[in-house]
Amino acid sequence: MVNRNDIVTFLNDYLAITQISDKSMNGLQVEGATEISKVALATDAALATYQKAIAEGAQMLLVHHGFIWGGLRYITGRNYDHLKYLITHGLNLYAAHLPLDMHPEVGNNALMAGIAKLKRIKPFGEYMGTAVGFGGQLPEPMDLGELEALFENALDTKADTIAFGPRQIKTVAIVSGGGASTLGEAIDSGYDCLITGEGSHEKYHQAKEGNINLMYLGHYKTETGGVKAMGDKLKEQFPTIETVFIDEPTGY
Ligand SMILES: [Zn+2]
Repeated sequence: MVNRNDIVTFLNDYLAITQISDKSMNGLQVEGATEISKVALATDAALATYQKAIAEGAQMLLVHHGFIWGGLRYITGRNYDHLKYLITHGLNLYAAHLPLDMHPEVGNNALMAGIAKLKRIKPFGEYMGTAVGFGGQLPEPMDLGELEALFENALDTKADTIAFGPRQIKTVAIVSGGGASTLGEAIDSGYDCLITGEGSHEKYHQAKEGNINLMYLGHYKTETGGVKAMGDKLKEQFPTIETVFIDEPTGY
């Protein structure tokens, strides 16, 4: 058993949650049991992941997409259902959104940069005043199809690419999740390909006019790596606790 506050203090510090502005209220969002023997990890705060965490015997659930964004106004409807479930079951809910996208070791984007073995890595992807992603050079130029296959295998996903850039890729920018908003920055910086999770309708023409490849790998599939890596980090820091990853794909 480890005291909850020791875990929260470690997470807050390791993920530097107070140093990053975010719409997500990062940190311990809902307080539960004081003593922790098992931490569950999931991408999304949802009744489905709470229920699986409790079924696994966890007292804490660490998620990338938390429950509280900006603030809570009415404890009715879905808010009530979530809070009631969490409080009734004593499940601590900890959220780390941008801090877990941009972290240099366990972040979703650092892990994807590692899959591509990017070199000359630079911060990329300005969001709310911070670069949350990374850009860099592939070790060797790679055919677009090869790059898709590399990520499809590593992330167990299917790539969907708006291919208006060069067929041979030398430079890549990466922002997990809904990172297509950084397409303009990728074009201006001269990247051959922007890799992200999902985008929106108007990105097609922007990619076409910007002569860039825009690769979608799925919001969910690009954002499971961070919470999994955080589980390994927690076990290293607190060897007596168990961790479990809860897979609850959304299809997006
Ligand atoms: Zn996301």
